[in-house]
Amino acid sequence: MIVLRADTLGYCMGVRRALDLAVRTAETVSDRPIYTLGPLIHNPQAVEDLRRRGVEVLPEGDVDGRIAGRTVILRAHGVSPTLRSRMESLGARLADATCPRVLASQRRARRLHEAGYSVVLVGDRNHGEIVAVTGCAPGCSVVGSPEEAEALDLSEPVGVLAQTTVSEEEFDAVCRVLRSRYSRLEIVDTICPATRERQESLARLAARAEAIVVVGGRSSANTARLFRAAQALGRPAWHIETAGELPPEVFGFRVVGLTAGASTPDSIIAEVEDALLGQARTDPGAGR
Ligand code: SF4
Repeated sequence: MIVLRADTLGYCMGVRRALDLAVRTAETVSDRPIYTLGPLIHNPQAVEDLRRRGVEVLPEGDVDGRIAGRTVILRAHGVSPTLRSRMESLGARLADATCPRVLASQRRARRLHEAGYSVVLVGDRNHGEIVAVTGCAPGCSVVGSPEEAEALDLSEPVGVLAQTTVSEEEFDAVCRVLRSRYSRLEIVDTICPATRERQESLARLAARAEAIVVVGGRSSANTARLFRAAQALGRPAWHIETAGELPPEVFGFRVVGLTAGASTPDSIIAEVEDALLGQARTDPGAGR
């Protein structure tokens, strides 16, 4: 078997930065536990690795006196200004891993709100990033589809931003509706290139591979999106979290493409690659 890696796969800049900060914090802060508010990234293996280093997950929305005097690592998704103030007033020491791209979205939402715009966020209203940006533009609307955009009743001017990980198609579909309804409209494209780069890399990979393995956490939205894209490209595809989940069918292919979501650890990608190659060496059907 030949295993082809996507030229862009795995950790994005924001996730790598957050994990580096968490590891550095665990090495330098002696008080335990250190907390993250919700899992630092959407990958259970990486979260477990942090737990072994003394970094525990505090359930989202569960901010109380436990964090007094403790270090709390803020995720790449960021937090709303209100939540940040609450944690500070409870006496937490904050280690801020908010991705610079998310901070830029927060600043843009705040500016539009302060300039009197009705702010529309395109994304998932339950996603941590959107919850945080919403806090920067009180009263803003969150829409997940063109139908929801049709139902809005806004005063102009209207400012539109995207969750950093929505697809360009989803964003464009909502913007088309808003353009048809509002003339004083400012569209700010805040989609992160990391998602597009992984999708484009996958398309190049699919042109050369017979089947695609997508590695990443089951709760990782960008991994799920990569998997759907692999299927749409017409290749047999599997979404797995670990090497142990590789299906037997994959070993029947001669050229297998390997990609991974933006929160997948390098070590897990390497394990999957090794498992594919190792199996191929001992599999009597290898080389077909
Ligand atoms: S996907 Fe983009 S915005 Fe989100 S954490 Fe990664 S680099 Fe930052």
